[in-house]
Order: sequence, then C-alpha cells, then structure tokens
Amino acid sequence: MSHRIVECVPNFSEGRDMAKIKVITDAIEAVAGIRLLDVDPGADTNRTVVTFVGGPDQVVEAAFQAVKTAAQVLDMASHHGAHPRMGATDVCPFVPVEGVTLEECAELARRLGERVGRELELPVYLYEQAASRPERANLAVVRKGEYEGLAEKLKDPQWAPDFGPARFSPRAGALITGAREFLVAYNITLNSRDKAHATDIAFELREKGRVARRNQTSAFYSSGRELVYDGRTYPCGNCDFDGASFQEVEQHCKESHGYDLRRLLSLNGIDSSAGVIGRKVYKAGLFTHCKAIGWYVDSYKRAQLSINLTDYKVTPPQAVLEATRRMAADRGLVVTGSEIVGLVPFQALFNAGRFYLKQQGKSPFVPVPDVLENAVFSMGLADVAPFEIEKKVLGLPRKLDHALVDLTCAELVDEVSRDTPAPGGGSIAALAGALGAGLASMVANLAQGRTRSAQAEADLLAAAEQGQRLKDQLMLAVDDDTNAFNAYMDARRLPQASAAEKAEREARMQDGLKLAVAVPWGTAKACFEVIRAAQLAMQSGNPASITDAMVGAQMGFAGLRGGIWNVLINLKDITDPAFNADLRGRCAQLLADAAALLEATLAHGDGKLAAMLEKKN
Ligand SMILES: [Zn+2]
Repeated sequence: MSHRIVECVPNFSEGRDMAKIKVITDAIEAVAGIRLLDVDPGADTNRTVVTFVGGPDQVVEAAFQAVKTAAQVLDMASHHGAHPRMGATDVCPFVPVEGVTLEECAELARRLGERVGRELELPVYLYEQAASRPERANLAVVRKGEYEGLAEKLKDPQWAPDFGPARFSPRAGALITGAREFLVAYNITLNSRDKAHATDIAFELREKGRVARRNQTSAFYSSGRELVYDGRTYPCGNCDFDGASFQEVEQHCKESHGYDLRRLLSLNGIDSSAGVIGRKVYKAGLFTHCKAIGWYVDSYKRAQLSINLTDYKVTPPQAVLEATRRMAADRGLVVTGSEIVGLVPFQALFNAGRFYLKQQGKSPFVPVPDVLENAVFSMGLADVAPFEIEKKVLGLPRKLDHALVDLTCAELVDEVSRDTPAPGGGSIAALAGALGAGLASMVANLAQGRTRSAQAEADLLAAAEQGQRLKDQLMLAVDDDTNAFNAYMDARRLPQASAAEKAEREARMQDGLKLAVAVPWGTAKACFEVIRAAQLAMQSGNPASITDAMVGAQMGFAGLRGGIWNVLINLKDITDPAFNADLRGRCAQLLADAAALLEATLAHGDGKLAAMLEKKN
C-alpha cells in the first residue's frame, strides 16, 4: 500500500482580516483527504502562512482552490505589509514528507502553475527545485521589484512567466510556486540562562559561520581577538595558517577545510571581488543547510540554540545535537534536551532513532515504535515540553487501527473460530508470515556483534532489516485480506434490476475479485522473502537460535501456501482468461521456488541440530 504525503505551505497577502483567510482555508479543507495543520497570520507583515498536507493529487487540487479563492477575495492593489510579496497567493511551495521525492514535488508545482496560468490566466513563476532556469531558483531574485514592479517586469522578455499570460493582473498579481525540502525547526536547550553561551555554540554550527578569532582566553570562542584582513597577511579563520594573498588563503580553505571562502564571505555580506582589506575574517560553520542563533526563553528559564535545518537529509538534527553536546562539554555546559518546533517528518525522527540504536551497539532494525521512542529519549525531546509522537510526527506508517490486529492473541483466535467466513485463511496466512518474519528478525538481532566476519554481520543486518519490513507489511495484510473480501461482498449486494445495473454489478464484482487476489498474492511474495530472511539469519545466527529460524522459515512457507491457495480460489470466478493464466503460472513458479528454498533451509538447520545432539552424547 503506497503511503505518500506532501506538505504545501502557501503564503497569502492578508494577515489582518481573518474572515477573508477563513474563506481561503475553507476552500482548502473542502478537498477530500486534506488536513489543515496550521494557519499563522502576521499583522505587521499583513501575510498569513498556511500549512496543509495530503496525497500528491489532493494537495495540488487544494492548492489550486486556494489560489483561485485568494484571487477572488484579496485585492493586491490596496495591500501594504512589511514582507516582500508579489501576489495574493505570494509563494506556494510543495514539500516532500513521506514516500515522495523533491523532484516529484517540483512536478506538482509545475502542474499547479500550468493550471493557474490556463484557468485563472495569472502569470506564474517557478522557483527553487522547480525553477525553469538557474537564475530563477532564488525566491528573492524572482520576487525582486515586488507587486509594484510586476507590470514592468512582465514587459521584460527575460522575465516572461513560466505559465500563464505576461499580462498584469492588478487584483491577484503573480503566483510563485516551487518545491523545497522540509524545514525542521529545532531548538537545543542548555543548562544556562546565558544567551551568549547558546550563541557561542550556534555560530560554530551554522553554515554562515562566524567572525574568526585567535588567542582565546576561555573555552568560549568569543573570548578571542577578532581577525581582520590587514593587507599584509590573509589569515585562515580555522587554523594558524596565514596566506600571503587572498588567492592563497582561498585555496587553503578549499584544500584544508573543504569550503568556498568567497561563498562564505558573501553569506556574511562581503563581496570578495570588491577587495577584502579592512574586512573581518570569517570561519565556516560545521554544517550546511543550517541556520542557528542563540536566545533566552523566559518560559523555560533556559538559553537555547534556535536552529532551522533546511535539508534534514543532508544535515540531520541528531548530527547537530551531537556536535552541540561535544562543544557544550568543552565549555563546561550541559545540553539538557532538545525541542522540535511544529512538526517533524517521520523519516527524520526514524533515522535519528536508528542512529542512536547503532551508537548503543544495538540493532537498528527493531519495531518502528521502539525506534521512535529511542529517538525521543536520546535527543531529550520531552525536556521542556511533552513530545507526543502521534501529534508531532508527519507521515507515520499507516496505523494498525483495524479490528483484527488490535485484538489480543486469544481474542483473535476466538474471532477466527466463529461462524463468519472472515477472518479466514487469507488473514491467517498473512499472520503466519508476520510471525515468521518476526522470528527471522529476532534471530538476526540476537547474534549481532557476536559474529567473526564482516560478511556475517552484514547478512544479519540485512535479515533483521528485511524481517522488520516484512513483518510490518504482513501485519497490514492481516486486515487487508479481510477488507478485500468485504469489497467483493459489497459489490454482490448491488441492485440487478436492469441490464445496466447487472453489467455494473458484474464489473464491480470482477474488480473486487481482482483486488481480493492482489492481497494474498502480495502475502505469498512477502512470505517467500520471509523464508529467505530466516535462512540468512540462521546461517550467521547463534546455534541456540537454529530452531527459532526453522520455525520462522516454516511459518513463512505456511503463509506462502496460504496466500497462493487464496489467489487460486478467487481466480475461479474471474472471467479474464489472460489474467488467470498469467497469475496461475506465477503461483506455480513461486511455490516451486519456495519449496526448494524451504527444503534447503530446513536441511541445513536439521543438520546443525543433529551435530549439536551428536556432540552432547
Ligand atoms: Zn586553515
């Protein structure tokens, strides 16, 4: 089952009249499948930032409805505010959250832009990841001249819009849309009320870096003497190197410290091509895609590093936290915890949890809730405010909130035994596979760190990872199988009074049957992987776990056979001969492969078991 979530963060040029904003957010919420997460108005900026999430298609539809509504209810001709802006919907970025790439989000921006241009006849510019040419990537450049300069800008062929007419629309202005990575707002809390303590570390972290110094009198970097390009020497800000020329120090920074000095200076507002004599020397921060300052938060009575991570895939929060912990310790400070402001994508927290499990020498391939809990504990995310995973994490895996898997084991067995056709063999096949996958993961996790070769270690990690993934997938199939069966039953209950109704019912039943077939076929294929994972875990696992792995393999095979039987029994009612022939062929092949794999796995296990008994006697 695909699980795809996109975030959309349109900014509207209205921050005072909340009735107008309500009309726009109502249009967004009217689209099925959309969740409105936040509405953040600013009176000074006269601007409102709206955040919503949903599947890719729904998000584009909601964004279009929002742009359309904003063009109707807002009037740029009378708009004043402190923030740069060019249109009623000023910017509208699409952001990947789960199961979607940045490039796919850029495509969503193009879809929105094309439709806004065509149906609303507004000029549209694309920026950042969706930009049509490099010079349009930077939002500030695209928005230069703002709404007031837009009429002139549209006359310039260089600034022909990416979509829509090059015609000035006095009410709505222009739309700027694009794609960017998720912005993680992340604060790290110190055991101090001194903002300067937080600032000292923040400046070490941020991409922009800080003014370089030498001769520190304490552990705090800010206690040193500021360096200036005095025309005689060109000091490197990071080490004791002094260049004889700017070119020399530029090359040194590239080779010894891996950064572009000209770019660093320009981030600090210094144009090095205009000469640097008399300007301060800067040193680069530890992380790219990282903005950070220090501040004091009165309600916590603590100083914090306030950090924006603009690409958590490159600069993840746990890396920034660990660097901060080291630097805090050097300065006699303690990091008491950290805080995620707003929401965090599932992958960001999940990766952090796995990182800390590895640090602890534990297998990172344990159940998802355990990984997330480990992230919360390791990062101290509940230090200054409660951290509720359900509320703070975007794109959690599909929740197992269905009837069957929430039952206790005893209740489930009772439910199976009742005189209703579902849950039946299909669900039980999936459950058997899930149990087998769990055993494979267990055997692999138990042996990690105790093997003699790197290859065995890699095999165990792979088996644990596959075991977890297959277990989660098959647990969903326990309920999916029953639900797929229900869909077919629903179709059977459709009216059949007229010929048209009969044809419709038959078509829906055929669809229901093909769906009912897809679930057990998925179960069978996943169960084949379960046998393989059990085999892999057994080969490098502890001798004491041999029988666990063999039970896992056997359960995988039971699930596979069950899945195939459920495919075949549903095929008898499907009237599409090509579909039937194809699937029967694939079932036969999978069963033959699985039987051979199981036999080899069990022979290997039984052989080891026999050898262990032999030794004993
Ligand atoms: Zn250096």
